[in-house]
Amino acid sequence: MEDENERQRQIKQTLQNRMERVTPDLLSEFLFTQGVQTFRCLLCGSEDIGIPQCNVHKSGPEGSSSVTFVDYIKLDASGPPHSLMHYQYRVICRNCGFTHHIAVLPVLEWVEGDKSNG
Ligand SMILES: [Zn+2]
Repeated sequence: MEDENERQRQIKQTLQNRMERVTPDLLSEFLFTQGVQTFRCLLCGSEDIGIPQCNVHKSGPEGSSSVTFVDYIKLDASGPPHSLMHYQYRVICRNCGFTHHIAVLPVLEWVEGDKSNG
C-alpha cells in the first residue's frame, strides 16, 4: 500500500511538472496555430477574455524562481485517477461570464512536441 501511494504521488508530480510548462502565452499560441486568430466568446462575441493562471515559487540549489502557468481544473470522472482526459483549461469571458473549456491533452501534446522538435 505504501508503494502504491508513492507511485500515485510520483504520477501526480510528473503531471504537475508537465502542466507547469503551459504558460498563458503558449495556450494563446496553441489556439492561434489551430486557426483561432482572435478568441471571441461563443455566447456574446466579446473579446474581453481571461485565462486563469497560477504562480508558483520554487527554491532549489540554483536559487529561487517562479513559474506562471495556466490554471486547470480536474473533472471528477471515472477511469484512471490521473488521466489527462480529466483535466481542462478554462477561458472565461469577462463580459458575460461564459466559461469555455479546453481539454489539456492536445495543448500539452502540442507544447511538448513543439519543444522537442525545435
Ligand atoms: Zn461572453
